Amino acid sequence: MNIIHISAECYPIAKVGGLADVVGALPKYQNNAETSSQVIMPFYDVKFTKENTFTPIFESELTLGEQTHKFNILKLEKDILDFDVFFVDVPDLVFKDYVYSFDDTDRFLAFQIAALDWMLTWEKYPDIIHCHDHHTGLVPFMLQESFKYEPFRKIPNILTIHNAQYQGWFSHDNVNLIPAFNFDNVGLLDWGGQINPLAAAIKCAWRVTTVSPSYMEELKTNANGLESLLSGESTKCIGILNGIDWKVWDPETDNYIVKNFNQKTIVSGKKANKKALCDAFNLDISKPLFAFIGRLVGEKGSDLFPEAFRIALQNPNISILLLGSGHTETEEQLEPLTEDFKGQYNAFIGYDEKLSHNIYAGADFLLMPSRVEPCGLNQMYALRYGTIPIVRSIGGLKDTVRDISEDDGFGICHEHANVNDITNAIARGAELYENQTKFKAIRKQIMKIDNSWGASAKQYINLYKSIN
Ligand code: ADP
Repeated sequence: MNIIHISAECYPIAKVGGLADVVGALPKYQNNAETSSQVIMPFYDVKFTKENTFTPIFESELTLGEQTHKFNILKLEKDILDFDVFFVDVPDLVFKDYVYSFDDTDRFLAFQIAALDWMLTWEKYPDIIHCHDHHTGLVPFMLQESFKYEPFRKIPNILTIHNAQYQGWFSHDNVNLIPAFNFDNVGLLDWGGQINPLAAAIKCAWRVTTVSPSYMEELKTNANGLESLLSGESTKCIGILNGIDWKVWDPETDNYIVKNFNQKTIVSGKKANKKALCDAFNLDISKPLFAFIGRLVGEKGSDLFPEAFRIALQNPNISILLLGSGHTETEEQLEPLTEDFKGQYNAFIGYDEKLSHNIYAGADFLLMPSRVEPCGLNQMYALRYGTIPIVRSIGGLKDTVRDISEDDGFGICHEHANVNDITNAIARGAELYENQTKFKAIRKQIMKIDNSWGASAKQYINLYKSIN
């Protein structure tokens, strides 16, 4: 069975968040005797594309409304990934030094059209077309409705919703950008008076998956306006928990971290990594280190940090380290904490893949007080690196972390995304840290939890088979 993933992100080529991690990992687990998996993504002007060479394998022109644009399909010259990735280069639209911006409608529409136009020329069509998030949300609609994609009508397609907050809305005034289709069905594009690519995909895809079972349930009541649509389409929806890429996220082989370790060497390994981190950020290695890694946006609950951290840091026996960027207001409110709690709090405002690995390896606890968390990968990376997750019980966090008060519990869970719950959870973490025997036993236990893609990849294959 041949599967083609169409996605805006793919690790290690272009990553903004979890979407890249998933699309960079799932295909590896779908390349076996039974299935073969490839990725089509945009060709951005980013570090990876600057550092590698590509061969053009196809060139043509696409039409976007009145305009025509030249496009190329490129293939990576060296075989450095475990699966094939094809790049759509539309030089005057898509090739930019960023993944997302304000001008995304034309870019991602051009990307989707170019991908499908190229696929029309294939001798053998794929057995499954798997789309991810709103950036590729018009694919299921075009496959079903656009005249020129008629040859694809019988190919099953799937949409995976990694995050329903973002839907790619644009005005009906731009409907002519979409390749000619049966206008009687224009309603399929609409949600709330706008063209809504995510809604169109939910309506048209053969199956819709979300990245955790709990998130699937939550979307029926909280989906940024799509609640009734998702409830109505629930029979074709299923939640499949993401896995993590065990090859990339392995403390025993991770090249980014200061000292590699496994379950047997966890004590010395964590200590060396924590020391390096504390030295770099002027923190005290003897105190429990609470960390956050992620986008500073409302969904992650990060606007609560300035106040919560001020309260939590009144306890002089804890340290906090933050890695992330996002809302300017939150960044500004966090800034004075570095001075006010010198030696106890520090932050790197920005994106740094290497530092993120070092934090997973060196921290004692990872904070995730999310308001919305479709799956969340950070808590799974933390577990693999022996860092105890402190999470709000929501979405994928609810499905992957059990509170220490329960049998075999291994994390700290709180119910609400508010300052009080965050500070209480940090206090519980500090208390656990004082009981070093229990703390170390849990750390060791969590490294054994298998959140790899194995089981989830099988669920996807079963889903593909059910519609093929
Ligand atoms: P998201 O909602 O952002 O997609 P996920 O938990 O699904 O959240 O995935 C987040 C991914 O992005 C993880 O691999 C995490 O380590 C990484 N990440 C987020 N922010 C940063 C940052 N500032 N620097 C490095 N890595 C980051």
